[in-house]
Amino acid sequence: MILVLLGPPGVGKGTQGARISVHYDVPTISTGAMFRDAVNRGTELGRTLQRYHIDRGEYVPDEVVVAAVRERILQPDCKRGFLLDGFPRTAPQALALQEMLDHECLKLSGCLDFEAPLEMLIDRFAGRRVCPKDGSTYHLTTQPPKHPGLCDICGAELVIRPDDAPDVVRRRLEVYTEKTEPLISFYRERGLLYIVDASPEPETIFSQVISILSLVRRRLSDSRIGEEI
Ligand code: AMP
Repeated sequence: MILVLLGPPGVGKGTQGARISVHYDVPTISTGAMFRDAVNRGTELGRTLQRYHIDRGEYVPDEVVVAAVRERILQPDCKRGFLLDGFPRTAPQALALQEMLDHECLKLSGCLDFEAPLEMLIDRFAGRRVCPKDGSTYHLTTQPPKHPGLCDICGAELVIRPDDAPDVVRRRLEVYTEKTEPLISFYRERGLLYIVDASPEPETIFSQVISILSLVRRRLSDSRIGEEI
């Protein structure tokens, strides 16, 4: 199963992606997490990324993102499928993904578009905390860590992402509307779009996701083009 998770920043794609990943035992490829990790570790990609303004919500050029994703999806853990969180984000990236998959004789199973009202997104940002070590995400009220302020997985102290500051959030939402929202039509036209109402609490969203993915799996097996999931 190969899925694209689409939706504005703060809609909960990361949280749902992590759950889908565990449920179906496929990795999540989050370009944002990959980039933050590369910058923190000072890799070659990290040094390249320092030229752009990730912390201010500006997009990284398509060719840099596409090269990073191309390398990642060829790793052995992606053989049974993968989820893409935060990629594609522009029309050229969506076309590049299509080409990459065609080249590997793979097919996109579907695109889940997570939708929620703007005020709700802004509210979610205010409570969002992340683990600087493993990238796991929490929310002070809807998804608190077991021990306040500490990551459930590695125990590191949780932080507020610099790009979750209110003025950066506004910019990220603007960039999303301008550059990424058009991808909704791109996937709808290809019969691959599934809308998820991302306004309820995470458990209810996940139930919707599971129902949608059962449908996606049925469609895949009917057309005999799906990989095993
Ligand atoms: P995210 O964690 O998905 O919100 O990504 C954090 C930041 O990384 C974004 O605000 C962009 O600056 C950059 N980024 C992540 N994925 C992409 C992408 N597909 N295209 C361009 N920039 C990206």
